[in-house]
Parts: sequence; C-alpha cells; structure tokens
Amino acid sequence: MTITYFIDTYGCQMNVSDSETIRGLLNAAGFDECPSPESADAVLLISCAVREHAETRVLGRAAQLAGLRSHGRSRGPFMVLCGCVAQEHGSELLERTGLLDAVVGPDCYRDLPGILRERLRTAHTDRRTSDHYEDLPRVRSEFPRSFVTIMRGCDNWCSYCIVPSVRGPERSRESGRILTEVAGLSAAGYREITLLGQNVNSYRDGSTGFAGLLEAVARAADPAWIRFVTSHPRDLTRGVAEAMAGTGNICRQLHLPMQSGSDRVLAAMNRGYTSAQYMEKVAMLRELMPGIVLTTDIIAGFPGETQEEFDRTAGLLSEIGFDYAFLFRYSERRGTAAASMPGALPVEERLRRLHVLQDIQKRITLRRSAMLAGRNLRVLITGEARRPGQQAGRTMGNRMVILEGSSFSPGEFVDVTITRGDGWTHFGVPVGL
Ligand code: SAH
Ligand code: SF4
Repeated sequence: MTITYFIDTYGCQMNVSDSETIRGLLNAAGFDECPSPESADAVLLISCAVREHAETRVLGRAAQLAGLRSHGRSRGPFMVLCGCVAQEHGSELLERTGLLDAVVGPDCYRDLPGILRERLRTAHTDRRTSDHYEDLPRVRSEFPRSFVTIMRGCDNWCSYCIVPSVRGPERSRESGRILTEVAGLSAAGYREITLLGQNVNSYRDGSTGFAGLLEAVARAADPAWIRFVTSHPRDLTRGVAEAMAGTGNICRQLHLPMQSGSDRVLAAMNRGYTSAQYMEKVAMLRELMPGIVLTTDIIAGFPGETQEEFDRTAGLLSEIGFDYAFLFRYSERRGTAAASMPGALPVEERLRRLHVLQDIQKRITLRRSAMLAGRNLRVLITGEARRPGQQAGRTMGNRMVILEGSSFSPGEFVDVTITRGDGWTHFGVPVGL
C-alpha cells in the first residue's frame, strides 16, 4: 500500500527549497503527497530555529497534529520534525516532547524514505557536508517562480545567530551544475529564479566568485529574471553591483541586512562592517542603479543596546529609506555568543523599540509605494490572486501587483500601469487597456 505524507514548511526560503527536495525524494521512492494532515500516514514539519517564536510555533503545530492520534484512528500519523530545530535539539526532542516519532536534520534528508517506511523512532543529525542533494529530483510548487540553492551553511558566526551551528559550515555547489539547473528551469518556462544561500556574496567554486556566477546564471536563464538572497554587506562587491547594473534580466532589487546602525552593536554582533561602510554600499548601489529596490533586516534590543545606540539605528532607518524592512526583536538562541553577553534588555523594552522601528518603516514603505502610482512597470504574472477574478504578479523590484479582470498565463511578462499602492502590494491595469 502506498504511504502518504503531508509536509508543512516554516521559516526561510532555504526550507522551502529543502522541502522541494524532500518531495522529489519521497515521490521517487513511491510515496504520495496528500493535501491534509488528517489523511496522511506521515507528517513532516520543516522547522526554523532562528528565533524562539519560530521554534515555539512549530512545536505547537506538532502538539496540535499529535491530537490526530486520538481521533478514532487505529494509529495516528507518523510525526517527523525536520529542519533547524531538529538539528539543534536532536534526540532530546523525542523524549522531551513525547509528540515526535523521528527527528531529521538538514543533512540527513536522504534517510527519510527508510525512516518513514519502517516507522523508525530515531534521530538523524549527522553532518554530511559534501551532500548537496545534487542527484535528487525536485518537486517545484511555485511556477513560474523557482529557487536554486547555490550554497549551504554559513561561516559568519554573527553573535546572535544559530544558523552556523544548525546548518553547518559554508559550502558552495559546483558552478557547472548550477548553470545546468538554471538552463533547465528556463527551458521549462520558469521566469523567475532566486539563487539561495546564507551569504551568496561569498560563493566560490575555483576561480568563479559570485559576480561571475551571477552573470553566467543570467545568460543561462534568459529571459527569466534573476534574484538572490542573502547578501552580507561586508562581502557585497562593486563587481556584483556592476553585474546587476549591466545585465537586463538581473532584478534591480537587493535585500541587504543592516541589523543595527550603531558601530558598537555591529561589532558586538560580529558583522564585520561599520554603519559608514554600510552607507557606502547603499550609495554605490544607488549610484549604479538609480531606483534600485532595497530591503533590510534589523534587530531591536540586542544585549547592551543603549537608547542612544538604538536611536542611531532608528535614524539610519529614516535616512536610508528602505522600500521594506523585516524588523525583529532580539531573541536569545542557546549556545550563541550573544546569549551570554551582559546587558540583556527586558522583553517589553525590546518590543517598545521594535514598535518605534515599525512606525518609522511603515510611513516610508507607504510613501515609496504611493510614489509608484501612474508609473508603468513590467510584471511577471505568477497566478491567481486570493480574490476571484484577480491575478497576481511581481515587479522586478519584487513588489506584488494585483490585476483586475485579466487572463494572462503564469509566466507571462506584462507591462502594467500602477494605479495605487498600499505598502508592498500594488494594484494596476495592463498598459493600453
Ligand atoms: N543569512 C541571512 C539570514 C539570516 S536569518 C542573513 O545573514 O541575513 C534572517 C534574519 O533573522 C537575520 O538577518 C536577522 O535580522 C534575524 N535574526 C537572526 N537571529 C536572530 C535572533 N537571535 N534574534 C532576532 N533576530 C534574529
Ligand atoms: Fe546568521 Fe550571520 Fe550567517 Fe546570516 S550571515 S546566517 S545572520 S551567522
């Protein structure tokens, strides 16, 4: 009898990409994906450990799903926790929660078919750093958008961050394999390809660095659009910015996490740049690509952050004027350097600072979005919008655009006049209609 599975993915795009690999692997091994956990033989949760809230959420979901066991079924779904929380806590989770049947870290996904078939109560968290899952088929679910992982792991050890310890050391895929994958996606009609890595700017394969890879990928992908995340400001070179500026299908959009505007805090975070150096990178990007869409990440309430240091961050947030910002309150992660730093701030104070940043950014996002009204922008049609009769698409800047009453096919590029914007979402009509 065919074993069915349900998969639920949390966290960053790397997890989304990994879950496509898991689907490919399980389907090739004869398993069937099913749309709801109620009817599944196995449930896989792909977890995120980057903040405490993410971890609590996925364990809460595990508890909720474990309830299926008592709902008149002879045996409930076999519950597997995958991803970063699995790697972080390992076998301890089997005992502690009593909810999980197996725990499988990001380097051990090849073991999943055997674990599910045998219903093994086990924890697999070996570090197999040479495995990029190259040979595995992938089930992609976001046509015409796709992710291509170009590297795994991270060596930066930002002091607040758990990623290097759960995802392991940085390793880059061979450029030839990346180019083959990208050319295949473009030939199959994919029209947006996002290169993924924790710090794509430190990509290296022999003599090929990130700028060279980016140009080669853009050629192989044409006419598909190319994006990439995440860029570490320290490693973002003029060469990469020039490749973006000089190549028509590389999106003029960049996510460049600033984290803080205070030099003391940046040093304590082990980020490897000062606020002046960060500003220089922004100036370089805007000089080479006027109108580039810039987004960032900021952490409010890092240990020991004084009011004055926080004010520097708030000041730079206003001054730079990002199109969008992902704002977080600091969250202690076990085993990270920052978790044992003195000067932890009360959670209420972290939240207060977070709200100050949110208010600033909300005004900027709305202002920048309103400025687009009346402009014509090229939009990649991605599919149906939530409301019937509407279609959704993305601009090169990665802004969502909603079209009323149109019937284009996903993957088509359409020139659209923006009628209004309310933040990251915009509304428009095709040019000439
Ligand atoms: N490699 C990427 C993504 C890291 S996680 C990068 O360097 O940008 C995404 C974001 O989560 C980070 O940029 C940071 O702003 C935030 N983050 C990471 N650890 C955190 C922590 N302990 N508390 C709060 N935010 C955190
Ligand atoms: Fe974490 Fe820093 Fe690596 Fe990003 S670069 S994953 S924030 S350690």
